[in-house]
Order: sequence, then structure tokens, then C-alpha cells
Amino acid sequence: MRKLSSHPLSIVASITALTIAVVSNVTAQYSNGSAKARATNNNDVGASQRSYQQARWVLDEGIKAMGGLEALRAIKDFTLKEKGRIHARYQSASPDGPVDVGTSEETLIVDNERGLLFDELKTANGGFNNWVTTIIKGTEGHALDMWSRTDTPIANPSLNNFRGQIRRLPPFILLEALDRAPTLRWVGEDQLGGKKQRVISVIRPDNQQLALYFDAQTNLLTRYEFLYADPMAGDSVIGQTYAAYRAVGNVKIPTGRVLYNSGGVVQETEYTEVLINTRPAESVFQIPQGFEKLDAPPATPPPPAVAKVADDVYMLNGLAGGTHNIMFVAFNDYILVIEAPEQIFYGSNSIQALAKIKETVPGKPIKYLVLTHHHSDHAGGFREYVAEGSTLVTAPGNKSFLEQVAKLESSMLPKTAWSKRPMTIETVENKKRVFEDDKHRLELYDIGPNPHAKEMLVAYLPKQKILFQADMFNANPNGSIPIAQDITLSFSENLQKLGLAVEKIYGVHGRPATPDELKTSIDRRRSSELKIQSGH
Ligand SMILES: [Zn+2]
Ligand SMILES: [Zn+2]
Repeated sequence: MRKLSSHPLSIVASITALTIAVVSNVTAQYSNGSAKARATNNNDVGASQRSYQQARWVLDEGIKAMGGLEALRAIKDFTLKEKGRIHARYQSASPDGPVDVGTSEETLIVDNERGLLFDELKTANGGFNNWVTTIIKGTEGHALDMWSRTDTPIANPSLNNFRGQIRRLPPFILLEALDRAPTLRWVGEDQLGGKKQRVISVIRPDNQQLALYFDAQTNLLTRYEFLYADPMAGDSVIGQTYAAYRAVGNVKIPTGRVLYNSGGVVQETEYTEVLINTRPAESVFQIPQGFEKLDAPPATPPPPAVAKVADDVYMLNGLAGGTHNIMFVAFNDYILVIEAPEQIFYGSNSIQALAKIKETVPGKPIKYLVLTHHHSDHAGGFREYVAEGSTLVTAPGNKSFLEQVAKLESSMLPKTAWSKRPMTIETVENKKRVFEDDKHRLELYDIGPNPHAKEMLVAYLPKQKILFQADMFNANPNGSIPIAQDITLSFSENLQKLGLAVEKIYGVHGRPATPDELKTSIDRRRSSELKIQSGH
């Protein structure tokens, strides 16, 4: 499970959210110089200015092809409905099996002029069935979990935080690029589906360098992409493509989009309805009543911090920008760590974690790193532990996958993450392994398969009656317990089968919870209208 919501689609959300820019009025000085720029005597200017001029011409032609600057700027509001499929790359049930396919359905209504946004997203994938509505009205923002019926205020509500979604309409991509005109550069020519493309780049306010592909014949935007360091795949590209366009009023709008990550499809959608300048009624942006009000998450997540939960047992909370926790146990002669979270865009999480662990328990070797499952946000930080000399412990199905990932060459991942040390992996055979000395005992169980992962390890500390798990039960950090997902039902059933005496459940996501709270979550699900999607 990745950040933002409890669903793998949130990868998609994180990806798009990271290409944020501000749509604002285009400065007049950039709006009429293209022909002149092309005509400039290129001997008078340096390489970067020539590159800019060429790129600027491509962008201006792209704006014309899409309907012209005036028409694009005249878009005050839009309604976009899309429907499609999610492909859970690096987030499927099995690391080497087929990529799991889920569904997504979304309605996005944005009124730039009035600062209004309504976004309703329904997704089903990986044992999660999410239905989330986001409403922004000026400086007020609400994230509504429609199944759990909770209302969480958004810390810094702004349409700018939804540029990723707004960018589904390419007119806004072109206006953003024009707004950043001095950063435009010519990249080169390329091919897309056998058609010649002109590629330029622009730097966003968040310093992301975006490449824009334009079809050389139609001048329409066909793709945007950016490079990044992926903890699993190494040097990677995230790209969104727009294969076909149709006219909506006097602008051209795509008929759908396909999002790619590291060469594979992550999401493909069809635009089932696009409306422009209909001035949606105020009532669309009404906050529904009767939802449980939760506290707003902190505007800036606090730095990762260690909490002692029992003698020699610690949680390190708030890694990966506040979304992931790990557990570590100080045995007599060594330390055992569970989970190595890493973000989609590599963020040195294990370097931070190792420093905190060593500070808390100095002088003991970090002998074992246990990985509950293979998902990139849970296991992607394994390399620093290998460099540390730790032995990896995981379910048998993850061994060859991790060995392959470790062999990848990457020029973008920092050398610290790129251990050349040989990797040792021990697998949990027959679904159980025990670590023990005269004072400590930790039991690992594989409670898979479930709708989220074919193999899934949990850790149980019988003396402390503590259980540590990933993704299956995620208590809201700001209070309530969400309605049980399919994966939570499976977790509860498997826990009962094991017959462990558990008093407290710690998790990679969210706050610690009790078995009673787990039961409440299951009871709420039983009485809800949310149907069980996947076998469990
Ligand atoms: Zn997760
Ligand atoms: Zn997961």
C-alpha cells in the first residue's frame, strides 16, 4: 500500500501529484513572440537560447493545434468523467506472476475561476475497494471516505495540489509550459506509434523536468514524461500518453489517457464525458452531512521518531514522508528490523532508519531485515541493509525477485543505495520461523495468500502479546478505524486460525490498534453495502 490512501491507485495519485505546477495567466511578453523567435539570426544567440527558440516554436504550434491560446485560456471550468483499469506494477499479489488488474472510475469537476474542485474516485484493486471524494472550496478542503463515512480536513487546500489530475486535460499542460517559457528547451525528435514526434522540455516550479511530445503532423500533444530513480526498477520514466483527440467546443480534448511507469502500463482510462464552461452549480461542491469528523493531518509531517513499545521493542514511526512505520527488536546479540519502506521517488528512507536504529540501540549489529511482502514501498529500501551486512528474511516467493532487483544497474540511485556487497536471503519455510534467545522471542508467520499478496509475513512477540503487520489493518493516525477491506477480513480470519494471544496490533501504516478495534472494523463492514470483491 502506498501513501495518500489505502489503495495501490494512490501510486498513480502520487505520481501525478509530483508533477505539480501553477496554472496562472500567461505573462503577456511570452504570448506573441514565436514567429519572431524563429526568424532571429541564430548566430547572435547562444546554444541555450537557440534551444529555447526551437522549443518555443513547437509549443506555440501545439497551442494553435489545440484551439489557440485564446480558446485555451477561456477554459474557466470543466467536468471530466473517466473510467479505466489499473495495472498494479510492483504492487501485485505475486512478484513474478501476472500484474493484477483493477478498476478505476473518477469524476473530476474543476472551476479555476471560483477555486472549486470536486473529485470522486472509486477504485478496486489488491484487496482494497476505495471510494473517496475530495471537495475544495477556496481555502476549505475535505477528504471524504465514502465507505467509512469520515471527513478529514485537508491541511493546505489548494487547486494547485490537484494539478496532476487537472493535467488530464492537455490544454492545462500547454498553458503551464507557456507560463514557464524561459525553461523551455528543445530535446529532439522521436517516434511514437510509428509517427514522428517533436520533443521539448520544461521545468516545473517543483523542479521536475517534463518532456512534452508533439506529433509532427498534427502538432497535438501526445505524451509527457519525466525521469526518476525508482527503488525497485532503478532509472525509470513515468509518462502519460494521449493517443486520440476530439473537439469539445473550440478546443481539442483527448479521448482517454494511458499512464506508463518504467515501460509498463499503470493505468488506462477512457474519457466518458468532458464538458467545458458549464459553470457547475454550487451544490456540486456541498460538503455532505453526517460524516465522522477527523482531525486534519499535520501540514508538514513530523520527522521519523522512535517509540519504545516494550523492553527492547521499538517502533520507528513516520518514514516515507510520514506514511510508513517499521519495528525493530534488540536481541541479546543483534538487532532484527521489520520492513524497509522506500518511496516511488527514492528518498533515502533506510539511511534515515539505520541512523535512528543505531542511535537507539548502539553497538549491536543489525543482523536481520525482515520483509513482510515484496511491494516496492515496503521492501524498496532493502539495499542499505545489504550494505550494512544484514541478512534478508522473507517469504520464499520473493527471493528470486529481490535477487534480480539487486542486480539492476542504475545511474540515478545514489551509490549508498547501490550495494555491491553479496546479498544473503533466508526464506521462511513452512510458513513459520522463530528468532529466540534467553530473553526474547519473535515468531514470523506467513498468513498469505490474501487479496493483497500471495505471501505475507506478520511478526508476533508472545511475551509482549504484540503483533506487527503490513497493509492489512490500517487504523487512521488521526483517530477512527476504517471499515474493513477484503484484506482486513482475510487478516482477521487468519489471525483467528493461528490462535495467537494478541493485545496490540502495530502496523506499517497508521497508529497501533487493539483486537477489539479490528472486530469493530469487521462488524462495520458486515453491515455496510460494500460487497466483497475478491476471494479471501
Ligand atoms: Zn503499504
Ligand atoms: Zn502492499
